[in-house]
Amino acid sequence: MSAGRRAAAAALRAGASPAVARTGHVRERRRKALRCGVGIFAIVAVVAVLSAQAPAPADVIVVNGHIITVDGQFSIAEAVAIRDGKFTAVGTTRDVRPLAGPSTKVIDVKGQTVIPGLADGHLHDAGGGPGVDLSRTRSLADLLAAVAARVKETPPGEVIVSNSDWHEAQLKEHRLPYRADLDTVSPAHPVVLVRGGHEYILNSAALRKWNINKDTPPLPGGRITRGVDGELNGELIDRAKSLVQLPPQSRLTVEELAAQHRTLNAAGLTSIRYPGASVEQYRLLQEMARRGSLTIRVNQLLRLPADSGERMRAAIEATGIGPDDGDAWLRIGGMKLGVDGGFEGGWMREPYEEPWGEHGTFRGVNTMKADAYTSVVRELNRLGWRAATHAVGDAAIDEVLAGYEAANADRSIVGKRWVLEHGFIPQVDQFPRMKALDLVISAQNHLYLAGPSLVSYWGAKRAAWTTPMRAYLDRGFTVAGGTDSAVVPYPPLWTLYHFVTRDTISGGVLGADQKITRPEALRVATINNAYLTFEERSKGSIEPGKLADLVVLPEDLLTCPVKDIERMRVSMTMVGGRVVYERP
Ligand SMILES: [Zn+2]
Repeated sequence: MSAGRRAAAAALRAGASPAVARTGHVRERRRKALRCGVGIFAIVAVVAVLSAQAPAPADVIVVNGHIITVDGQFSIAEAVAIRDGKFTAVGTTRDVRPLAGPSTKVIDVKGQTVIPGLADGHLHDAGGGPGVDLSRTRSLADLLAAVAARVKETPPGEVIVSNSDWHEAQLKEHRLPYRADLDTVSPAHPVVLVRGGHEYILNSAALRKWNINKDTPPLPGGRITRGVDGELNGELIDRAKSLVQLPPQSRLTVEELAAQHRTLNAAGLTSIRYPGASVEQYRLLQEMARRGSLTIRVNQLLRLPADSGERMRAAIEATGIGPDDGDAWLRIGGMKLGVDGGFEGGWMREPYEEPWGEHGTFRGVNTMKADAYTSVVRELNRLGWRAATHAVGDAAIDEVLAGYEAANADRSIVGKRWVLEHGFIPQVDQFPRMKALDLVISAQNHLYLAGPSLVSYWGAKRAAWTTPMRAYLDRGFTVAGGTDSAVVPYPPLWTLYHFVTRDTISGGVLGADQKITRPEALRVATINNAYLTFEERSKGSIEPGKLADLVVLPEDLLTCPVKDIERMRVSMTMVGGRVVYERP
């Protein structure tokens, strides 16, 4: 053992000497330290301090890994030591092994790849639920068979509802089931297919039940769709969904949330951000945090129904919740707002290609008018809240920018990390305005699921530009990744695969010029998500002093055949030094 190696190992034992042991690329560091007089001085000083007291042994060490640390240098390490839920050392297996005491848990990952815990910056829930499960259907026939099976076991008159985690692009026909399709399997029971967060499809019995017919006036911010024959096809979009009152769902419980979190852990997720959930859900999460039963770190945006600044202020006061309440397990991240629809309602400057009975004039749905929206965001800024606004189309982004600029004129929002959620179709003229406001982009892989639909709605050019990751990164934006689960399935490795290939489930590659590199995609899923929630100093990479959240993968994410990124299964997930998932 050379003097340099001994010194470096001692520094590692010290645990948190950031100057010495911070990067995983220990060998490289050591070379630098030896070259650099200051480095050697720092090492010697640390050793001197440490010899006075023996370092406490690690709780856990992970050895023999290919550890992609995602630190500033994107360095590679072999082993980590963990104590009190945080990394205390990152280095070679040889360096870290001596940090184990008699009761230290030693995890030998046998050459597997280790990455920082993955995060999803926009996840509503893990999908599933008590409704008809359509998530695995791959054709209209599959889908109708699933509905028919439910009809058989449902008493007459009772409403049949589906879960929301499916999309027509997963069906080989690439189209929605409509009223006429549903009538073939359910002539009598009212059926409501819930699809994502923006759309219902009703059969004839359901349209009758809620008195929706050709004379029903269109609702502002919503749409009642017709087929080419001019008849209602059963589709209700955005605010038009309020015509239907679904049977009350069973209340969310701590147990259900815990089960969902375990499902997400198994996919490699260690942090999630709920993009707009109820106060009630926040209270359940607080209860879990109190009991110490959270297995995933949660950032929650609040969503309060308020269409003016005054009403927003009153609604916030009624909750008693502050803008950044919480800790490393559960934190409030801001206020969720929305100004347009989703796949079939994103509000565009130019008309859709899909006419939807509007003869080429349909430009999407504006769900919150500019005056009300601006009044709300200005008040949020006055109250010290950060806004995160759902905006899919370029016209929606225009409205968000105007609102944020008005708030910024009252009191600067620069550095406060206000967020554009989704940002599917930004225009080049909008980038400088977004930059001037210092916005963070929360981007997801909707294209992966819905590619073929987006081509038919918006045309090939806009579909290929959807969520332009390359353009965002090249212009210096911090982009945090996610899925919008259950709108898009939650596995984060699917998102990584999509971002590096722009491949889609059933429509091939769309917008190949918007691919990003594997290291970029990994940052988007880790450290950039930490930045989104002001936590980049405490998580998002594997470095001493940071929270010990990590994922073990069977293959090297940076060099494996690209299709394997989508296919591979997580071996182990750790949150705060505790194993929360292990592949059987
Ligand atoms: Zn969403």
